[in-house]
Amino acid sequence: MKTFLSCFGLAMLFALAGCNSAYRTTARELGIYDADRIIEGHEVTLKTSRKLPIQTLQFTIGQRPALIDGVSYYLNKPAGYRDLSSEDIQMLRKALLTPVHKKAKLNILVDPGHGGSDSGCRSASGTVHEQVITLAIAREVQAQLKAMGHHANLTRPDEKTTRTLDERTLLGASLGIDAFVSIHVNASANPEAKGVETYTLPAFGCEGTLPNSPPRGPLVGHAYLPPSTRLAYYVQKALLDTTQPPPYPQPADRGVRHAHFKVLRDTPAPSILIEIGFMTNAEDFARITDATAQKEIARRIVQGIVRAF
Ligand SMILES: [Zn+2]
Repeated sequence: MKTFLSCFGLAMLFALAGCNSAYRTTARELGIYDADRIIEGHEVTLKTSRKLPIQTLQFTIGQRPALIDGVSYYLNKPAGYRDLSSEDIQMLRKALLTPVHKKAKLNILVDPGHGGSDSGCRSASGTVHEQVITLAIAREVQAQLKAMGHHANLTRPDEKTTRTLDERTLLGASLGIDAFVSIHVNASANPEAKGVETYTLPAFGCEGTLPNSPPRGPLVGHAYLPPSTRLAYYVQKALLDTTQPPPYPQPADRGVRHAHFKVLRDTPAPSILIEIGFMTNAEDFARITDATAQKEIARRIVQGIVRAF
């Protein structure tokens, strides 16, 4: 009994000491003062009143979903008991806290998902194809970038043309681009599933957020992951921005997620893949097929790109 008590006492002491110093490295590396670490049970909030590019990081010990200034973001590894993984600390610091040298003229390759013999996913009625929606939004993104004086190309020009994923990544390699932005539409057997998600590769040695997605690599895309993460975060933030009310119901925030998609693995440039909504959800379907809403979605994607670079 005595041994049990002393063990218990020691464990309590460690727990308290651990609590006191938990997330000290994460906070310091992200430029947040010790006093601004709030740990309540398993919920951690790191908040700063300093003028940093991000103000608040919230997450749950043992889990991957986090919030960065209110925008959903999946950590590369579950948050530890004492600190975030070194992969996540480095990624957040390089992607979101390191100043970037802004480029006056960007060169962006916009990739309308699918096309030609591959029409992508279909609406519940089967009459609307993903490739038509992705092309309409990609053309808008291209037009708006060009109107701002940037270079913008598409990986396919029309609905008829079939492009393999290899052809798309090779085009990205040949054009000397600043970023590759792939646009897709989601589908699910569950008609309630809805919302916007933006993908990057997982960090090297980390799992994707889809089921059965073990670590892979190193891959070409790993060399560009901090700017890819930066781009994904600002595009997701712009698409979900509530400070500029959209002309459609506010979409659900499914977050910045991670997957080993071919275009993210093999494009030698910062690369993201946006799932702009679910074909199989009535609310999302109404948004992504409406011409006015498509223009607004494109405007927000462009805003995210410009903000990131
Ligand atoms: Zn797709």
